[in-house]
Amino acid sequence: MAPNALGVVEASFARTKDHHTQWICLSAPNGRFFVSAEIAKPYRTPEILKNRRGSISRTLGRVPTAVVISGYVGVPVDEDYVFSRNLGQMKNLAGKRILLIGCGTVGGFLAQQLAQSGAGAHGGKLLLVDDDTLQGANLGRHLLGAPYLTWNKAEACADFLRLQLPHLDIGSSPTSITKQIDILGRYDICVDATGEEALSIALNEHAVRRRPDFPPMLYVWIEGNGAAAVGFMAHDPERACFKCLKVDLAGQKRFRLLRDGVEVEAGRNLACGDAHYIPFPVSRAASAAGLACDMVLDWSNGDERHRWRSIAMDHRRAIEIKDGNPDLIVRCPACGNEPT
Ligand SMILES: [Zn+2]
Repeated sequence: MAPNALGVVEASFARTKDHHTQWICLSAPNGRFFVSAEIAKPYRTPEILKNRRGSISRTLGRVPTAVVISGYVGVPVDEDYVFSRNLGQMKNLAGKRILLIGCGTVGGFLAQQLAQSGAGAHGGKLLLVDDDTLQGANLGRHLLGAPYLTWNKAEACADFLRLQLPHLDIGSSPTSITKQIDILGRYDICVDATGEEALSIALNEHAVRRRPDFPPMLYVWIEGNGAAAVGFMAHDPERACFKCLKVDLAGQKRFRLLRDGVEVEAGRNLACGDAHYIPFPVSRAASAAGLACDMVLDWSNGDERHRWRSIAMDHRRAIEIKDGNPDLIVRCPACGNEPT
């Protein structure tokens, strides 16, 4: 794991004049190790310890038994340990190629949760895509804070997560996914955390056209000022696509989480340059991210039973709907095959 650490135990003896024991702390990607090293008795000759002290590391390195290691204490931080210890019997996301579109409030927390579940470990890849920049207006409900102001959100999240979990292969792209839509097909799963319905519809159309050789698409969004969160995974051509959830653009949603009469309140422009936004607390974004992370973990473990899931977070404004796996709608303009 740490090729640079080879020979450092032997080399440590060259740094002192006449001792034959050393305490050494090794820091490597897979752990920290505190060891006591001692030159074995037959090698404690004045010739080795004093006269040829300068070349002692080479002398000791030639004979595997010349240095005895004891008093060993290790603290593991390797990939298998870090990303598996919290999952019990569940598999982590190591080895998977995961594309996350949108690194806003939901996407930022989701990127972190996916990374902490092993996305990008062991030859896997986590790519974050967002063409927006982090602004002061975001600080109250984003994973990142002041150090990343004016950064591109995807690049900032990737930078932050690489710092926290250096094991992982996390990439970023500041280009809108609509300008590079063909990359979707190169991943094992694609997650749309933008919460932008028009974009989700476009991604869904692209995915449906390329079936059956196309990865699962997971959409996650928040409804009614954080009253509820929804996660929906589309993959199976026999089941609902994203458009099947609301066949008519101006029509009703198939699963109506918001109670009758609940209106979505848009944000007032409190600051100059603060674009149109929907107010909801950070807690709702973190819960939505958690819902999506659970769905990715279930997919990774072969469980795709509940592809439509929701959490009602404000019970005065939203109702509970059972999780399920909705059927396709024959007259769906994206995936349906109703004769025209
Ligand atoms: Zn459909």
